Amino acid sequence: MSRNIPTNTDLSNEIFAPTNYFDLTNLEQGKILQFQQEILQLVVLGNNYKEICEQVCLLMEQLLDNAVATVMLLDKEKQCMNVFAAPSVPEECVVQLNGLRPGPEAGSCGNAVFRQEAVFVESTLEDPRWQSIRKLAVDFNILSCWSMPVRSKGNECIGSFALSSFEHRLPSTFHRKLLEIGSFIIGIALEQQKMNEQLYLSSKVFENSTEAIMIADTGKTIISTNKALNKITGYTEEEVIGKSVSIMVSIRHSSKFFQKIWLSVKQYGHWQGEVWNRNKHGREYPAWFSITAVHSEDGIISYYLVNFSDITDKKKSDEIIWRQANFDSLTGLPNRNMFYDRLNHDIKNASRLGTQLAVLFIDLDRFKEVNDSFGHSIGDALLMEAAKRLSNCVRETDTVARLGGDEFTIILNGINNQRCAETIIQMILQELAKPFHLNTKSAYVSASIGVTFFPDDASSTDLLMKNADQAMYAAKNNGRNCWSCFTSNMRAATEIRSKIAYELRNALRDHQLYLMYQPIIELATGNVHKAEALIRWQHPEQGTIYPAEFIAIAEETNLITEIGDWVFKQAANQVAQWQAHFDTEFQISVNKSPKQFISKMSDWVNHLNELELNGRSIIVEITENLLLDIHELVVQQLLNFRDAGVQVAIDDFGTGYSSLSYLKKFDIDYLKIDRSFISNLDSESNDSILCEAIITMAHRLDMKVIAEGVETDSQKQLLIAMGCDYGQGYFFSKPLTADKFEAFLQKG
Ligand code: C2E
Ligand code: MG
Ligand code: MG
Repeated sequence: MSRNIPTNTDLSNEIFAPTNYFDLTNLEQGKILQFQQEILQLVVLGNNYKEICEQVCLLMEQLLDNAVATVMLLDKEKQCMNVFAAPSVPEECVVQLNGLRPGPEAGSCGNAVFRQEAVFVESTLEDPRWQSIRKLAVDFNILSCWSMPVRSKGNECIGSFALSSFEHRLPSTFHRKLLEIGSFIIGIALEQQKMNEQLYLSSKVFENSTEAIMIADTGKTIISTNKALNKITGYTEEEVIGKSVSIMVSIRHSSKFFQKIWLSVKQYGHWQGEVWNRNKHGREYPAWFSITAVHSEDGIISYYLVNFSDITDKKKSDEIIWRQANFDSLTGLPNRNMFYDRLNHDIKNASRLGTQLAVLFIDLDRFKEVNDSFGHSIGDALLMEAAKRLSNCVRETDTVARLGGDEFTIILNGINNQRCAETIIQMILQELAKPFHLNTKSAYVSASIGVTFFPDDASSTDLLMKNADQAMYAAKNNGRNCWSCFTSNMRAATEIRSKIAYELRNALRDHQLYLMYQPIIELATGNVHKAEALIRWQHPEQGTIYPAEFIAIAEETNLITEIGDWVFKQAANQVAQWQAHFDTEFQISVNKSPKQFISKMSDWVNHLNELELNGRSIIVEITENLLLDIHELVVQQLLNFRDAGVQVAIDDFGTGYSSLSYLKKFDIDYLKIDRSFISNLDSESNDSILCEAIITMAHRLDMKVIAEGVETDSQKQLLIAMGCDYGQGYFFSKPLTADKFEAFLQKG
């Protein structure tokens, strides 16, 4: 407590000067000795410190008639004092005293603590130091009061010891000495109590800890253990006391290992780490050890405190967590995380040794079809088998990983030349193309593989992965079941793609998109009642860009929905005009990609209603593949079109996978035979037989047929002979701007 000591000279003559023992009479000296002995006996024998303090009070009272003794303790946190022992003070007085705040007017005890010195007040009724608790003096007839601070071992003031008299008086040397001794011994007793409480607590912690604890002497001989040690090691306390601490540990560690540990304990006072232990029955288990050197006051190591716990379970769960984070649960192969780790590591190795490595990106072809037709459990079984086959194709030092879905990656280390990688890739292709026999079913898949080399193609993990991925896509586009090596052209192509994707966002806003119209001719009459709307992009630098170059990118980036809606509205406005000026039955067909069906529910029919256009004004061109993947949204929109009278045509018919039953189910109106069949038309070709078959089938199913890409008169004649309904192609007209198309119509 740092308080200013008052300099009031009236009070300074009372400042307590230590009493001299030899100023006392023989009788007084004898009484004091006896007083001391009696209290010391209490301290040594008793363990209830409140009782000791009360006994001191009673002894004190015996030595001064007409007075009562009190011990008050300071509550440091609340900055107030409470009565701890006052066996002769009435309860009501104790209640009033409790909560006393030390201060210059807080009576003798409040002042003793406030000033940190002895305070002797002869007249409590007049002395200013009793100003704030004068009522107490009156109520309980306390006329004088002497108080002495009680100090801890560190000389900190922790309370007061006081004698209150029912008469006005000041202490004699004898009484001062008594107060001095009393407060001193009370200080020691309270300190002792605190220590004992701490010791008790420590022993409880020691006993009840779930960690094994042992105390060893400087020779590492065990001198004490706790219950947990018995539980963990199987040894009872008797079995280990007097033995070396090494009785607990496994022989798998060398003596050097332990020498290092003890050296560290000596140097730094502490060591922590994992040690293999061996229990009483010989079972070995991992334990987490913590060893602390306990120093004596002079700084010399006197004991070692050793604690440890069995971490078998923790290690197991750590291992499980590690496996989950780094391995694919289905195939047991490293996952993306682990793959990147290994690739990083292998790249460092290769650059140190000056060797090459190859990264393979493998995607199974048609895996989705296996999953869809045989179910997911067969799909899973196929992936597990594929993982096995892949692992069998490579060496121990290589890594096969599963990135997710049907995508696998491989690191081939120490590849001397590309031929070396090629041999392995060929083997992988062969292995994966073999039938998969899964639970009575046989499935066939193949693989598309992309490969890239470190350091020739790239030197970072990210770039290598990007390269391999691009090369894999090239392989897929090359017709699957093949592999492709990364080339710098691929990177250029990707860069162009991302540039287009970026610029396409602005194209619509900046009115760079427009439509061309290609007439569709009724073959029997030569009349034109229909046109197909085909999009173009007028690029400010590159000129006209054709849909083949940007529709796929628009699909990937989902811009197709916005662009498609714009095309439709544009076509709807156009058809309204042409119906008004030329032909009330005129129709414009609009291409709609599968992405447009899946991204949102179409509001095209509403728009036609708003323009007061008949549903028949628009033909929607879809591809066969849309019908393969019967998404709920697709079904709903196709049925909505049918109900509104909007006709539907299957574009590029013959190039995809057709499901004839769906043609019927969705009331398809037209089949557009793909240009590739028309271009090979001559009376003897297979394509001509195919075309004829398509036309016959379509008519049976109540559909009309449009031949795409008609370029010559002979093609037109053959189609007419086969009974084809409509023709579209350069022979009749190339796609035209709206103005030119009107001129074309007027020309008839
Ligand atoms: P498509 O729907 O099969 O359109 C026919 C394509 O063949 C058009 O190419 C057309 O110009 C071309 N063509 C027509 N007659 C002949 C011919 O006699 N000989 C040859 N060699 N080609 C002919 P275009 O305009 O480049 O369009 C290509 C594809 O882009 C379209 O094929 C269509 O699938 C897609 N596309 C065009 N516009 C749109 C659109 O607005 N939305 C969507 N989603 N796709 C569109
Ligand atoms: Mg089309
Ligand atoms: Mg087509």
